Amino acid sequence: MRTIVVMNQKGGVGKTTTSVNLSAGLANAGRRVCLVDLDPQAHASLHVGVEAHGNTPTIYDVFGDKQTINDARQLVAPNFWCVPSNIDLAAAEMELADVPGRELILKAAVNEVRQQNYYDYLVMDCPPSLGVLTVNALAAAEEVFIPLQPHFLALHGLSKLFETTALVNRRLNRQLRVSGVVLCMYETGTRLAADIAEDLAAFLANSDPHAPWAGAQIFRSRIRRNIKLAEAPSHGKPIFQYAPKCHGAEDYAALIEEVMDSEESGEQLPAQAA
Ligand code: ADP
Ligand code: MG
Repeated sequence: MRTIVVMNQKGGVGKTTTSVNLSAGLANAGRRVCLVDLDPQAHASLHVGVEAHGNTPTIYDVFGDKQTINDARQLVAPNFWCVPSNIDLAAAEMELADVPGRELILKAAVNEVRQQNYYDYLVMDCPPSLGVLTVNALAAAEEVFIPLQPHFLALHGLSKLFETTALVNRRLNRQLRVSGVVLCMYETGTRLAADIAEDLAAFLANSDPHAPWAGAQIFRSRIRRNIKLAEAPSHGKPIFQYAPKCHGAEDYAALIEEVMDSEESGEQLPAQAA
């Protein structure tokens, strides 16, 4: 099972759009995918058409040790499940403050489904912060994808993000690697976007080879700005269902090909689409 955290402490950079469409596309390609919504704003849940109210189990219950990932999941498409979030999760940060081992709660839950071999991919959509929820995701995962919107402050804040992955790598999870940067809301034809991609490539190439981000690639597929991507969430549908022919769908499809290219050969073959 590949475990991917989609993180960036900045809001509005494309985390949720990437988490949802990556997950949906992998499921379309026959992979068994579980999307875990770790943002109290629950945008990922809503984007796949899940609204968790009342007694609906959510990721909050997983943090409270009341539910397993598989108890809290909902089927949203063939071989595509979502563990939803809702605003209750906003309280978790404070409630967990005194809980020993609070950084490792999600890791235990993820290890359980890893052992049971339920999924080919587990994708975690993070809130826009480096708090306990994001640290839980980093402790539970092997890969980090960073969506980046290439504007002039894009690289600002990246060092803080990288330091966090290094800290988690040292203290909580030796397996953690930053594996990819996804350029989102890319403006084709602008010098600025291309410059930022180049600066980032230079930074990665000159990093300490032991840093968790040393092997990170900038995905060749860039996600162009596309209005359909912005419209899809309010319809509760991933882009491949909402507008399968738009640029946004094309770009995410290309990204998914790249992600699948890096599947380890020799891993078990993907399950058949149900
Ligand atoms: P984050 O999760 O990092 O806060 P989102 O994925 O929610 O970011 O994206 C922020 C906003 O921009 C959302 O309204 C989303 O629909 C929109 N958006 C994301 N990617 C694109 C894109 N490539 N083109 C146009 N709009 C986008
Ligand atoms: Mg989001």
